[in-house]
Amino acid sequence: PVLRVAIMGLGSYGTRVAEAMRESKMAKLTGIISGTPAKIKDWQSKFGIPEKNCYNYENFDNIKNNPDIDAVYVITPNALHHDQVIRVAKAGKHVICEKPMAINAIQGQEMVDACKKANVKLLIGYRMHFEPKTLEIIRMRSDGELGKVLFFQGLAGFRIGDPNQWRLDKKLAGGGAMMDIGIYAVNGARYMVGEEPVWVTAQETKTDPKKFKEGVDETIQFQLGFPSGAVASCLSTYAMSNLDRFFLNGEKGFAELQPATGYGPIKGRTHVGELNQPHITHQTVQMDEMAAIILQNKKPVVPVDGEEGLKDLKIIDAIYQAVRLGKKVDLKL
Ligand code: NAD
Repeated sequence: PVLRVAIMGLGSYGTRVAEAMRESKMAKLTGIISGTPAKIKDWQSKFGIPEKNCYNYENFDNIKNNPDIDAVYVITPNALHHDQVIRVAKAGKHVICEKPMAINAIQGQEMVDACKKANVKLLIGYRMHFEPKTLEIIRMRSDGELGKVLFFQGLAGFRIGDPNQWRLDKKLAGGGAMMDIGIYAVNGARYMVGEEPVWVTAQETKTDPKKFKEGVDETIQFQLGFPSGAVASCLSTYAMSNLDRFFLNGEKGFAELQPATGYGPIKGRTHVGELNQPHITHQTVQMDEMAAIILQNKKPVVPVDGEEGLKDLKIIDAIYQAVRLGKKVDLKL
C-alpha cells in the first residue's frame, strides 16, 4: 500500500515536496489544500488531482469523509501549524507538519495531545534524519568510533532578502532566524551528540532593528550543556550566508558536514576520511520513510514524531528565555 498524502500550503517548500513525491515508491500526492483557486487549478493539472480531493482553509475539515487521503502534510507559515494540525487530527487523518512544528512548546504539547487523542500519527518534517551521511556519523558516534563526545558546533544561517515576507513577521513566523534556520543547529546538536541538553545560555545581536522588528531575532549565539559534560556552541542567523556547518569532536575522532543541512549534496568527512554515501533527494526519501512509519510502524534511527519536535521547541523557548534573562536556563526534556 502507498500513503496517500494531501499537501496543505502550496508555496515554495510545498512545491519541492510535491515534486520529490513523484519519485517516492511509498507516498503519493492525492489531494491539496489551498486558499488560492488559481494554484489549485495549476496543481490539479500538474499532479493529476481530482476536484473531489481539493480543499480550502474553510472546508478542509471535510477531509474526514475522503477515503483517498490518509495523511495531510502541513507546509504553511509556522504560526498556522498549531490550529491546522489539530483540525487535521480531528478529521481523523495522520499529520506530517513542517518544522518548527509550532511557535512555542505549549502549542507543540497541545498538538501532540490532540493527535494522541484522535489516534493519528504526528510526524515533523525533519528530512536530515534520513540523510545517509548524517546517519553514518550518528552510527560512528553511537558505535564509539569517535570516543567520548566532547564538543559540537552548529552554524546555521543565510542572509534573508525581502523585508515583507512572512519569515520576518512575528505573527506568522513566531520569531526570526531561530525558528526557521537555527532549529537545524538545535536539532542537529541533539542527534549528533546523542543526548538531551540540560542547560542553555544564549546571546542575541541585532544590527538592523528596522528589518528585524521586536520579537524577530536576527542573530543568536547559544550554548547547550549535555549530561555527559559535552557542550554545543551554535549560531543562528539571518544576517550571513554560507553558514551551514556541523562539527562533532570526540576523544578519538571527529566528524564534519558542510553543507550540513541544505538540500544537498551534503558533504562531509571524519578522522578516517571522506564520507561518500550517495546523495539522495531528501524529500523523496523522507516521504518513503514516513510512509513506512505511518503504514508499517517502522522505527526510524532518529525519531521524527511530535515529541521530537516538541523537544526542539522547549529548547528554543529556553534559548529565548536565556536571551531575555541574560542567564543560564536549566532544561528538563
Ligand atoms: P512559502 O511562503 O513559500 O509558502 C507558504 C504557503 O502558505 C504559501 O503558499 C501561502 O499562500 C500559504 N499560506 C496559507 N495561509 C497563509 C497566511 N495566512 N499567510 C501567509 N501564507 C499563507 O513558505 P515555505 O518556504 O514553503 O515555508 C512553509 C513551511 O515550510 C514553514 O514552516 C517552513 O519553516 C517550512 N520549510 C521547511 C523546509 C525544510 O527543509 N524542511 C524548507 C523550507 C520551508
